[in-house]
Amino acid sequence: MDRLKGQCVVVTGGASGIGEATVRAIIREGGSAVIADIQQDRGEELARELGSNALFRKTDVTQEADIIAAIVSAEEAFGPLTGMVNNAGIIGAVGSITETTSDAFDHTMSILSRSVFLGIKNAAKVMKEHGKGAIVSVTSSAGLMGGLGPHCYTMAKHAVIGLTKSAASELSANGIRVNTVAPGGTVTPLTAALTDGDTALITEAIKAASPLGIACMPDDIADGILYLLSDEARYVTGHTLVIDAGITTSQLQTD
Ligand code: NAD
Repeated sequence: MDRLKGQCVVVTGGASGIGEATVRAIIREGGSAVIADIQQDRGEELARELGSNALFRKTDVTQEADIIAAIVSAEEAFGPLTGMVNNAGIIGAVGSITETTSDAFDHTMSILSRSVFLGIKNAAKVMKEHGKGAIVSVTSSAGLMGGLGPHCYTMAKHAVIGLTKSAASELSANGIRVNTVAPGGTVTPLTAALTDGDTALITEAIKAASPLGIACMPDDIADGILYLLSDEARYVTGHTLVIDAGITTSQLQTD
């Protein structure tokens, strides 16, 4: 309890799945969170349920002005920004690389990669003034190797890891830590869409692909994000915390 006491965190994509679990964990641990999501109804409902330490701010992560506004709202409501979680995501362009249009590529990169650049940039601007902060971006097992996701998704998630290392090397001097978590298949509305909303089916599919034989749930990923936001990770920066039941390890061993 109280591992994030007094902290003020913006969570993009905070209305659903991993983002929602992260918002709940932050509040459970004594912090405050801005749910920065494009889904207004769900975001407002969640903020109402969680009470005075949560706030919804409608945010489209492709728009820099929206990200800045979410950070400003967080500081007005809860004090200096201490944490930023760049989590919003989609699957984006799917199918053969030869059939993928450049518009579909741009759209996917805009939501999965460019948004992380904007989140790190604008969080770091205010954190520099405070002399500390922790930024956590959500990549994927598909950010570590090929063949685990669609092409554009894979590229976007690799880019998140690259920018994280690069930003960590600059921002250490300002007391700002920059890390990522890399989930494997996790039961959320994003993956449930792959089975037409059948949660039981996607849970079984994720379990079957899991070397540990477990279906990863949003709380499993939120726990990793919470650690990287907290002072327990005060020595950790530029790191990718893989939470994937061993999928990347076993794939690498059999390749
Ligand atoms: P989800 O669909 O449950 O949640 C994603 C959230 O992002 C939604 O609330 C959605 O409204 C929001 N969002 C989408 N586009 C947005 C935009 N333009 N602006 C603001 N918000 C936007 O999905 P999830 O599975 O919780 O995914 C969260 C993150 O985890 C994503 O970055 C995803 O790529 C990553 N991830 C998920 C899995 C998995 O198996 N679920 C695995 C690896 C990585």
